[in-house]
Amino acid sequence: MSHFKKVCLECAQEETDPTAMACTECCGLLGFNYNFKDVCWDDRFRNNMWRYWPLLPINDPNKLVTLDEGGTPLIPTRAYGDHEIYVKDETRNPTGSHKDRALSVAINHGNSIGAQVTYIVSTGSAGISNAALSARASMRSVIVMCEGTPMERLYPLYMLGATIVEVSGDIDLIVDLVADICRKNGLYSTSTSRKTNPYQSEGNKTIAYEIVDQLGKAPDWMVVPVGGGGSISGIWRGFCDLKRLNLITTCPKMIGVVPHNYNALEIAFDKGIAKWEDILDMPFNDAPPSVLVKLAHPYPPDQLESPHAIKASGGFFISVADEDALNAQQKVGHHEGLYIEPSRGACLAGLEKLVDSGKLQSKDSVIAMISGSGFRETATTMEYRPFKKQSTDFKNLSSTLVKEAQV
Ligand SMILES: [Zn+2]
Repeated sequence: MSHFKKVCLECAQEETDPTAMACTECCGLLGFNYNFKDVCWDDRFRNNMWRYWPLLPINDPNKLVTLDEGGTPLIPTRAYGDHEIYVKDETRNPTGSHKDRALSVAINHGNSIGAQVTYIVSTGSAGISNAALSARASMRSVIVMCEGTPMERLYPLYMLGATIVEVSGDIDLIVDLVADICRKNGLYSTSTSRKTNPYQSEGNKTIAYEIVDQLGKAPDWMVVPVGGGGSISGIWRGFCDLKRLNLITTCPKMIGVVPHNYNALEIAFDKGIAKWEDILDMPFNDAPPSVLVKLAHPYPPDQLESPHAIKASGGFFISVADEDALNAQQKVGHHEGLYIEPSRGACLAGLEKLVDSGKLQSKDSVIAMISGSGFRETATTMEYRPFKKQSTDFKNLSSTLVKEAQV
């Protein structure tokens, strides 16, 4: 008997078609119910996220395809004051971001239903995860990207064997269009929003499971960068699962960090907007371009899922400016030795705002998730933060180097 059931979040019916990405009765969003009675982590997968497969929607743990997603370190920080503050370093995943967890679930599900080709719309992180994991599973991948995507994000996809299709237009509209094309043609969509693939949503829960294994408790606060909204919602569900299993007594307050100008979710949260249609009336399409490309969704595809999760946790949204994110990126590099991309600098700028807000109690523990490696965005970052170097010759090399010891 399966350890999980796929269920409709709208009409509550069980969805028995393994290829269905939405309820075949009412077109509602799908989620998963698990058998919580016999949950036991699988120590065969000690160093990766599949240790937690009993709470993931996968049929046969003996047939898993993996590049060792997860198992990322929790690192104490030194640059953010006296509180107990850690970063969950998701840049250590196989392709440099937490998206590997979501795509690992999606690719393994696709593999189990016999899909040969995966289709994903991505601005960067999810695309490379999809390409790498599809290759590992001997599946072809087709990555649909917005026109103008920088070469440093495109070229790795090519080297991973993906077919790259560039389309002009708004990312969120392209996500809907490709999902529709996949639905009508029986193609396997792995885009990272619940409405296009509910399986991938579950991978994010493993971040919470891992944190509690590493910290021995739930943190008091969890700060997460928010783009589409699926990651923070998944992490929240992970903590809720652990509470249900009595492995923790309290869940953290979840803080979602969004860019200034792309803060539809923050507005929805602060104004208590209950209908997504009310957000669609707001002119987010007019927002200026942002360096925080991984977070800059005018109309985030997971819609109100993340505001609901954050509200249930007792947390809130924080929005940050591009400049704050770039400063935070540089600060974590200089003081903690971590090279992250600007979109994840946003999370640390949000962390600083949280610390400055005075809302933390003296003994509170905080975890900020840094989820994208800086190595993938060097060219983009250099446009905003040109680097400095010293030039010298053989004659002056000694004095140049010795002088550095006296700075
Ligand atoms: Zn339904």
